[in-house]
Amino acid sequence: MSEGRSEQHGARRGGSGRRGGSGAGRYAPSPSGELHLGNLRTALLAWLFARASGRRFLMRIEDLDRARDAGSAARQLEDLERLGIDWDGDPVLQSERGEDHEAAIARLDAAGLVYECTCTRRDILAAPSAPHAPPGAYPGTCRQRSEEERRAAREAIAPRKPALRLCTELSELEFDDLLLGPTRGDIDDFVLRRGDGTVAYNLAVVVDDAAMGVDQVVRGDDLASSTPRQILLQRLLELPTPPAVEYAHVPLVLGPSGARLAKRDGAVTLADLRERGVDAEEVLTALAVSLDLAVPGEHVTTAQLLGRFDPARLSRDPWTWSDVR
Ligand code: GLU
Repeated sequence: MSEGRSEQHGARRGGSGRRGGSGAGRYAPSPSGELHLGNLRTALLAWLFARASGRRFLMRIEDLDRARDAGSAARQLEDLERLGIDWDGDPVLQSERGEDHEAAIARLDAAGLVYECTCTRRDILAAPSAPHAPPGAYPGTCRQRSEEERRAAREAIAPRKPALRLCTELSELEFDDLLLGPTRGDIDDFVLRRGDGTVAYNLAVVVDDAAMGVDQVVRGDDLASSTPRQILLQRLLELPTPPAVEYAHVPLVLGPSGARLAKRDGAVTLADLRERGVDAEEVLTALAVSLDLAVPGEHVTTAQLLGRFDPARLSRDPWTWSDVR
């Protein structure tokens, strides 16, 4: 994407606020298999939002879960390229960002905002919930422990290790979403690092987005409920936060049964579709038609879609996918 063209689009299109400059959008797939049409549509939207507002577009592989299949990250990136989605610089591997993640946890800890939690999932379900706490909120069992109680609790679960939780008084937070409008979500003493040492998604995403200069987060609306927690972390870590960071949670793709599209819904990846004789160009057309950016059968490129994209006209409804052919 040439500079001139980004600016031209950025001047009249884009989500809101800033145009051009040093901002960035991103796509952050978890390498747990092939991307399906829902993931591809979200990636296309993230690309359109970023490029249309003159931002860079960055790629981050969210590979913190050890059991992830390394080969699938490469296949995911190939599929994105096949659709015509490009990105700036090399993809960032989240698994290589451990030092920054730990530094953020240490900073919260130094501010007295971190505590060890020895609860199992079952302990949490069995504990009485705090009055007025949102459903599923951590009941606070391990919050107020003396040093001695903490040591005893640690020993009692060995060789398992405690998780780390954020200590917060806040129980909800509202943010402005470009598509959903004002969106309120619950907050509790959520996990920052699991007992097995894996840094939690909410912490990693906030630290990495800030380090990468991301100021526009476009992702599936199933993640909108995580955003209040992430904004709280941005504030506590003094990282850029709304309105300097904008959020757009985009509608999911539904399968023929009306539930969220899943691999069991048949041929839903580029590889599956290729086997049926549907090429990437046809898939891009189907995605573009679903976004009201093309008409059926039209041959389009992502560059053309960029010229037609207007976030203000984007449908808030999920798209139900039925066979491309
Ligand atoms: N890695 C997450 C996923 O694949 C997305 C995280 C994000 O966009 O914040 O669902």
